[in-house]
Amino acid sequence: MDFTLPPEIETLRLKVRAFVAEEIVPLEADSGNYNEFDNIRMDLLETMRSKARAAGLWAPQMPKDRGGLGLPVMGWAAFYEEAGRSIFGPVCLNCQAPDDGNMSVLNRIGSVAQKDRWLQPIIDGDVRSSFVMTEPHPGGGSDPSMMLTKAEKTGDRWVVSGRKWYISGAAVAKHFILMARTSDDPRRGLSAFLFDRDQPGWHIVRRIGNMGPDEHGGVCELEFDGLEIEDSNRLMEVGDGLKITQIRLGPARLTHCMRWLGQAKRCMEIAAAYTSEREGFGMRLADRESVQTAMGGLAHDIQVGRLLVMHAAWKLDQGDFARKEVSMAKVHVADTLNKAADTCIQLCGAKGYSRDTVLEWIYRYARCAKLVDGASEVHKMVLSRFYSKESNDFWSWGI
Ligand SMILES: Cc1cc2nc3c(=O)[nH]c(=O)nc-3n(C[C@H](O)[C@H](O)[C@H](O)COP(=O)(O)OP(=O)(O)OC[C@H]3O[C@@H](n4cnc5c(N)ncnc54)[C@H](O)[C@@H]3O)c2cc1C
Repeated sequence: MDFTLPPEIETLRLKVRAFVAEEIVPLEADSGNYNEFDNIRMDLLETMRSKARAAGLWAPQMPKDRGGLGLPVMGWAAFYEEAGRSIFGPVCLNCQAPDDGNMSVLNRIGSVAQKDRWLQPIIDGDVRSSFVMTEPHPGGGSDPSMMLTKAEKTGDRWVVSGRKWYISGAAVAKHFILMARTSDDPRRGLSAFLFDRDQPGWHIVRRIGNMGPDEHGGVCELEFDGLEIEDSNRLMEVGDGLKITQIRLGPARLTHCMRWLGQAKRCMEIAAAYTSEREGFGMRLADRESVQTAMGGLAHDIQVGRLLVMHAAWKLDQGDFARKEVSMAKVHVADTLNKAADTCIQLCGAKGYSRDTVLEWIYRYARCAKLVDGASEVHKMVLSRFYSKESNDFWSWGI
């Protein structure tokens, strides 16, 4: 077992670290750099994206012949963690959700024509994208078998009707990946489609307000009332929807974890700076055992998360779905991010609660980590099912 990074990935990691430190982190301190939803201003984002491209730090998950860096999933882990050090990092380097997961799945399963039409503009940074799956009751949420949005075939077209919500980025997206029901078959009842913002037959009902800083394009509720999709814009085969969901969500969940680890480390960095300077009751805060226990505990949680992420990344690189490993990473890293933000706010006193650092931003954002791409309870249910089936082999090494 070799835990060192290949030299070219280590070199790249250091380059990302320097770019984030020199170019992106300084932007966070100026409130004028934010939009009204607490994210980086769009015009500034375009400037930063040009700089990232010029620096060769762009679309790490995409193949080189399409303009990406062609890294294996283990390389993404190193890259994204460094990008995640800044709250603006991933979006500036084109490795943020939901584009990141959408690009990965299109690259994996799209035909060449579909990649040229739908994927390439996202890689190039010309358009943004959304993944459209979750529905209001009684439709599909944690349980996708409850999905009600229908796509019905008429001639060479599919006609879509139904309602979706909490769709990230929908208000700025141009390319959409839609999951819809095409039959009542319990295993093969869902299919995946591509559509463009400018097609008629759907609209955004509302941008849903939430507690966190918002992705560009927010989270939105959508209604479909006759959207027509050509059969050539269907992904894989009719009935492959659940399979496509697995192909998309495995890596997408893991890249969330990679970015969140970067954020959790940033929280520690801010708390370390404060507690090493601040004194009270005759000593530096950093010299108090209770502070050291808190910081040591976080360092430990983060490293457990990094090992879980790397193990899952390695399995994905071997062609495995890594369902168990991704679920374990997702549950643990979501908890770690929440704990890191909360603990570090506490250690920084009033400053932690203020907007003088990004701790309060990360704290608000962190709460969605236990919900997005599968609630923690659902991941634990999946793990328990694996354990019931595998017993002690649950912990076997290898594929
Ligand atoms: C910020 C944000 C962005 C999102 N972006 C997208 C997006 O881009 N595209 C998209 O399609 N969706 C998106 N979602 C939706 C997200 O994927 C769903 O919220 C998630 O899958 C859970 O579905 P639900 O909200 O319907 O919860 P429900 O299924 O209603 O579950 C509610 C709660 O019940 C509990 N629960 C559910 N099942 C079980 C179980 N088996 N065992 C124990 N407890 C259980 C959990 O605590 C869960 O949180 C986003 C959500 C948020 C908050």
